[in-house]
Amino acid sequence: MKRCKTCNKYTGAPKPVTLGDKCDFSISTSNGRTTRHRVVTGKLYRTWAGGECDVLYRGKLYRADLITHPDDPSPISLALIGRCTCV
Ligand SMILES: [Zn+2]
Repeated sequence: MKRCKTCNKYTGAPKPVTLGDKCDFSISTSNGRTTRHRVVTGKLYRTWAGGECDVLYRGKLYRADLITHPDDPSPISLALIGRCTCV
C-alpha cells in the first residue's frame, strides 16, 4: 500500500498474507490500569470465516481481527491514518 497524494491516507490493495507467512497484528497488554496496544510480527496460523485469524507469536496463538503484511502499514497505523476513499 502507499500514501494517497490527495488525502495522504493509505491507498491500494493490501498485500495478501498466506498461511505460514509472517504478518503484523496488534496485541493489547494491560497492567491493570492502562491497556496498551502494540504491533508484533507473528506467523499466520489459521483464518476464520468473517476475517479473524489465529496468529502464532512466541509459541502462543492469538486471535486477531486485522492482520497486515509486514511490508504494509501496521494495523495500528492503518487504523490511525485510515484508508483513502478518494476517486
Ligand atoms: Zn485519497
